[in-house]
Amino acid sequence: MTWLLPRILAGVMAMLIGGLAGLVIGRSDAPTLGVMIGGACAVAAIAVFDTLRGYRLINWLRGSQEGQAPRDAGFWGELGYRIERLLRLHEQSIARERMRLSQFLSAMEASPNGVMLLDAGDQIEWCNSLAADHFGLDPQRDKRQRVTNLVRAPAFVAYLQSGEFDEPVHMPDPRGKGTLSVQARRYGDDMKLVLSQDITERERSDSMRRDFVANVSHEIRTPLTVLTGFIETMVNLPLTEVERKRVLVLMTQQAQRMGTLVSDLLTLAQLEGSPRPTSDRWVALKPLLAQVESEAKVLSAGRHTLVVPQNLESQLAGAQNELLSAITNLVNNAVRYTPEGGRIEVTWKVLSDGAGELAVTDTGPGIAREHLPRLTERFYRVDGSRSRDTGGTGLGLSIVKHVAQRHGGELDIRSEVGKGSTFRLVFPAARVRVGSGAVADANVAVAVR
Ligand code: ADP
Repeated sequence: MTWLLPRILAGVMAMLIGGLAGLVIGRSDAPTLGVMIGGACAVAAIAVFDTLRGYRLINWLRGSQEGQAPRDAGFWGELGYRIERLLRLHEQSIARERMRLSQFLSAMEASPNGVMLLDAGDQIEWCNSLAADHFGLDPQRDKRQRVTNLVRAPAFVAYLQSGEFDEPVHMPDPRGKGTLSVQARRYGDDMKLVLSQDITERERSDSMRRDFVANVSHEIRTPLTVLTGFIETMVNLPLTEVERKRVLVLMTQQAQRMGTLVSDLLTLAQLEGSPRPTSDRWVALKPLLAQVESEAKVLSAGRHTLVVPQNLESQLAGAQNELLSAITNLVNNAVRYTPEGGRIEVTWKVLSDGAGELAVTDTGPGIAREHLPRLTERFYRVDGSRSRDTGGTGLGLSIVKHVAQRHGGELDIRSEVGKGSTFRLVFPAARVRVGSGAVADANVAVAVR
């Protein structure tokens, strides 16, 4: 208020000087009139001066208020300065709010869920790109559009109209790709926050889990039913010694079948639940294949020609028990499905890029093309009764595929009906080591019968 006293003094001085000038210049017979006119002129001059300064300030306020307010001295100067300061503070707080809003929107944008904000009339206020993707919207073009005009899935429309948002609703993905879970929440003045989540994968794995449990139950129940039947027979019927032995053999087979199934299930669970095998444990192929070969010979019982490479020097990095289980599964399958007199050959080669390929080829019945993509599914069998008759669980190839993947490799199946099949396990170069004596490791194989 430094301007207040000088301003009053200036006003009084101007009136005195004006009055004095009026007295000197004015008529001598009416000195009071001269003083009054002089004083009035001085006040008018101050008013004009003030008006000009006020006009400059208003002009600045009417404009974009860029730069400084007019820097006049006194009352107008302080008024201009204070208004300018308030404006700048206001601008700063708006900028801060804008930044906060943009950070908030970036956080919503980064959300793993689709997020959509609707006003009281269900018009889209904002949506993140995931929600736009889920509902097939354009975040810019569809702003202020009524969402139910754009997303017409009956389940979604009914959900929004019902106003009951305690539970999420499931609706078909408008892109036709799967299923969305949508949950709405009310906020503010009857506005709605709509969260969406793509649950296609979850539904798929739920249904796979259900199928798996159903399959396991079925697989266990079948031998169990047979066993129960035999037990009843033994309890209720007077069997001869020969019959009793025969029933016991059949019972053992069923019990073994259940045992194999449980052991395959445990292997699968272990493969899924344990960390990937490290690549610093080297497994020599020679003893591994020797073990596979001796098991296969027992299974074949001389019915097939079995060719297995000998004297290999190569090594594979990984888990010995898993590699053994994968190769044994492939060779045993070949033995089980190839009719008597057929040939089964195991080969190993190091490819030009350093990758290692272990192949099991048989001259069995082959597999029709339409079955090939599904062979590694759990419990998938081309011929169910054949598989069960030969002690199969339907889990073998799915174990092999898991093992290959856990070792960074893959399982490739080629087959022709009537001619035979080749199952190739390809391991990446980083997991293959060719030993010193591996003179090309070129299938020094011997045939055994
Ligand atoms: P299974 O225990 O039934 O053999 P797998 O997962 O090992 O289960 O194999 C799946 C299916 O693939 C088998 O049921 C069989 O029909 C087919 N299959 C596997 N290996 C061979 C093979 N060498 N020759 C012909 N069919 C095969």
